[in-house]
Amino acid sequence: MGFPRLGSDGKDAILVNSYDAVVVGGGHNGLVAAAYLAKAGLRTVVCEAREVVGGAAVTERPWGPDYQVTSLSYVVSLLAPGLVRELQLERHGYRVYPQGPYFVPYADGGYLQLPDDPARRREQIGRFSAGDAAAMERWDAWMHDLASVLGPLLSEIPPKLGSHRALDLAGQARLAWRLRALDQRRVADATRLFTMSIADLLDEFFESPQMQGVLSVSGLIGTWAGPRSPGTAYVMAHHHIGDVGDGKLGGWGFPEGGMGGVSRALAAAAASFGAEIRTAAPVSRISTSNGRATGVVLEGGEELRAGIVVAANHPKIAFLRLLERDELPPDFVTDIERWKTRSGVVKVNLAVERLPEFVDKPGFDPEVHGGTIVLAEALDDVEGGFQDAVAGRPSGKPFADICIPSVFDRTLCPPGQHIVSMFTQWVPQEWASEPMDEELEAHADRVIARFEAVAPGFTNSILHRQVIGPWRMENEYGLVGGNIFHGELSASQLFHTRPAAGYADYRTPIHGLYQGGSATHGGGGVTGIPGRNVVTQIRRDLRAAALRRRLWLERR
Ligand SMILES: Cc1cc2nc3c(=O)[nH]c(=O)nc-3n(C[C@H](O)[C@H](O)[C@H](O)COP(=O)(O)OP(=O)(O)OC[C@H]3O[C@@H](n4cnc5c(N)ncnc54)[C@H](O)[C@@H]3O)c2cc1C
Repeated sequence: MGFPRLGSDGKDAILVNSYDAVVVGGGHNGLVAAAYLAKAGLRTVVCEAREVVGGAAVTERPWGPDYQVTSLSYVVSLLAPGLVRELQLERHGYRVYPQGPYFVPYADGGYLQLPDDPARRREQIGRFSAGDAAAMERWDAWMHDLASVLGPLLSEIPPKLGSHRALDLAGQARLAWRLRALDQRRVADATRLFTMSIADLLDEFFESPQMQGVLSVSGLIGTWAGPRSPGTAYVMAHHHIGDVGDGKLGGWGFPEGGMGGVSRALAAAAASFGAEIRTAAPVSRISTSNGRATGVVLEGGEELRAGIVVAANHPKIAFLRLLERDELPPDFVTDIERWKTRSGVVKVNLAVERLPEFVDKPGFDPEVHGGTIVLAEALDDVEGGFQDAVAGRPSGKPFADICIPSVFDRTLCPPGQHIVSMFTQWVPQEWASEPMDEELEAHADRVIARFEAVAPGFTNSILHRQVIGPWRMENEYGLVGGNIFHGELSASQLFHTRPAAGYADYRTPIHGLYQGGSATHGGGGVTGIPGRNVVTQIRRDLRAAALRRRLWLERR
């Protein structure tokens, strides 16, 4: 299946249905938006191009009915506990098993483990560096402090920075007021976080290659940048802002039924509030009239009319394929055209007939097998892997962030077997333009060989394997360029610039057309923030319009 190019002009529309709101894209953000819109009493329909909702938060069955595989995303943390409560997701089957700590096995023997218990963690790190063991608490406190400032900002609707209109100036003043608690040290720390490389930042706290290697990884997840690239320190922080509802900042967990479990609960919540959810319903164009959104036209010609349209898909699809460029201001089009959306991620999913046995940590250990197994021995290796991809080669030593959700969730595969989810980087970003099937299989072989070196016998335990590279991410899942967040989390693409100057408030240049996918503020991961914020903005606009109408009637 491909995502629609600009197609029908609406003349061949054959059926017309009317709604208050149409949501384009049934990824988790589209479903969140639909749930809040329907909860607010708007007649809402979601149009999802694929046969299944969820987008990148999806569980599929590539090897038949016995296996449920979380195809792309694999752990949840950033989904706000408030959203879970408001949409009553637990009533709709949302359940999360907390993920265990980092475990990093080394090819030349030994391992590093980072248990939650501070005394055990200190002892583990101290085997590599006494200084690093002491630094860990400083690092945690520093991160916690910054996350407590940045976390709430992630849920804000960004004000229009730079606008001189009275209402926008008031929005800027409100932001400044909210930030008044920051002292000069925290402002400087936040600035450094947004601009530094993760390598430079880690260097200020840690000396051992082992600690630098493992902690660098969360600064690189989904990122077309190596650990020495400026801006990667923020990517690390982005991954430490959330909690899975247990109040533990930076905690991650496995949703029951894979990430599709999150989307299924969201879809059920949206339906319970009255939203209609249509799958296999690709939108071929967003209809407008005199600068206003009037609905959408589906591939096949069916027309759905609505005064509110929420684009919850990738901005390059929404604005460059579903609209004509001359329907939008040239500046806006330029911003979307130059939106950076690369990453070089490859997802490798496996079914295995037994759990891996690690050379230096034999036997089953829920902290190891139920944790985050990282293949990244040292920061230099990781940087080398990125430089390979920049030079047009797949990483010789790809890093991998690995988990085995079936350790907790026995609904995923037959008894005794397990699902292994390997998030790996990098392949050249150009691989988004071609399937590169053989090359991707070779990349997966290299990752599996790295695993085999620390857990002999692993390769022989593999029953099924699935490799999803950037081309499939773009063409099957709508992740243009293979970027897992709909757009890079670089400082140039955050807050008031996400995704276009003047339109970070979830509005667009077209009246009634809103945006609420991952490329908007709060997006990047399964956060639901864009889906929730876009509805807050829509409701504000509806209230303001109602007030204007009342004043106008009173004046007559
Ligand atoms: C390999 C990988 C691993 C990841 N791991 C994690 C993780 O562990 N934890 C985490 O929090 N995040 C992770 N992420 C990121 C996270 O999954 C995404 O940021 C998030 O799911 C995006 O959600 P969304 O709803 O904004 O967009 P999407 O999930 O991309 O949904 C957009 C939807 O729009 C549909 N669509 C597009 N065009 C049209 C059209 N014309 N008509 C109708 N429908 C259309 C698409 O089919 C899609 O379903 C990962 C992503 C990937 C790819």
